Amino acid sequence: MKPFSYSRANSTNEALKLLQTDGKFIAGGTNLVDLMKEGVEQPSQLVDIQRLPLSTVQANKSGGVSLGALAKNSETANHPLIRSKYPLLTQAILAGASPQIRNMATNGGNLLQRTRCVYFYDVAMPCNKRQPGSGCGAFEGLNKNHAIFGWSETCVATFPSDMCVALAALDAQVKVLGKDGKERMINFVEFHRLPENDAAKDNNLLSGDLIISIELPKTGLPTKSHYLKIRNRASYAFALVSVAVIWEWKGNVIMNARIALGGVAHKPWRAFEAEKFLNGKIATEENFKQAAEIAIQDAKPLSQNAYKITLAKRAIVRALKTANGK
Ligand SMILES: Cc1cc2nc3c(=O)[nH]c(=O)nc-3n(C[C@H](O)[C@H](O)[C@H](O)COP(=O)(O)OP(=O)(O)OC[C@H]3O[C@@H](n4cnc5c(N)ncnc54)[C@H](O)[C@@H]3O)c2cc1C
Repeated sequence: MKPFSYSRANSTNEALKLLQTDGKFIAGGTNLVDLMKEGVEQPSQLVDIQRLPLSTVQANKSGGVSLGALAKNSETANHPLIRSKYPLLTQAILAGASPQIRNMATNGGNLLQRTRCVYFYDVAMPCNKRQPGSGCGAFEGLNKNHAIFGWSETCVATFPSDMCVALAALDAQVKVLGKDGKERMINFVEFHRLPENDAAKDNNLLSGDLIISIELPKTGLPTKSHYLKIRNRASYAFALVSVAVIWEWKGNVIMNARIALGGVAHKPWRAFEAEKFLNGKIATEENFKQAAEIAIQDAKPLSQNAYKITLAKRAIVRALKTANGK
């Protein structure tokens, strides 16, 4: 591991001031430390932010809920406000990692975890995300776990978070404090980015930005929701495909439907056209099947992952049916 300096920040302003250009914030450390041990990330400085007062989950001013960036994933999933108002988020967080990791992992760190692409982790292999310009080993190599939406020849990696798939479906916002001391909000669907020709950048944060919180909007009418994760083994594995579905309903009519997919793209993937199709429709299996067809119509498989198209289609139908109670 490359030598690095370590300091601890006691306030958000101090954290911003301490961070140098080639430094990194460290929260739970469950992703960053692994990457440093492998030589994938080599910051020369760590600024420990765990003591910042950003670890509460509480009602926000707009009637929704604010998730502190340093609240642990386990506390967030099990908080009474989340369990009662946003069960989709509880399900998604609890589908990820293990209880021990969720006890260490923070909400901010979850948003910024890096891909699990094996070429990214293996420093002997080409990877444009780790080393821009070195090529993408997965594009013509082992790509059965990789993207079917939004990839480019520069990078075909997927974003591994479960929590973020639910946050995309919930239309969350991320509150960020910039190096200039100003706060701003980023819509969750615009927080992560597609690789295009710059795979090194996973999201639209600016250098030195500190995540303060994730803001969940007020819930309106009664909702139905479900998070479904398909993986190679029953626990402790990343999603091959995951689906978060949520809609509001009046009678049996679907309103404000949202469908987000995980394990299929460089970011949580919203199926906007399928959502449009479902709005105003009755919740029937036939409509769910048509929505799933629409959701996957733009998928482009790589050499080894065409199976994800069938898997995603079936997972969407199953998630919608389960949310509907059938
Ligand atoms: C074995 C294993 C299995 C896992 N399985 C899953 C899974 O199935 N599903 C899933 O979703 N996740 C899974 N994870 C990932 C886990 O959820 C993440 O490692 C965790 O959420 C990262 O949070 P952290 O606080 O430890 O982040 P750190 O490791 O401390 O930081 C990660 C990154 O975030 C940055 N950062 C952290 N907080 C902030 C902030 N407030 N502002 C700005 N930058 C910040 C750091 O600089 C760093 O770049 C797994 C992890 C492991 C080790």
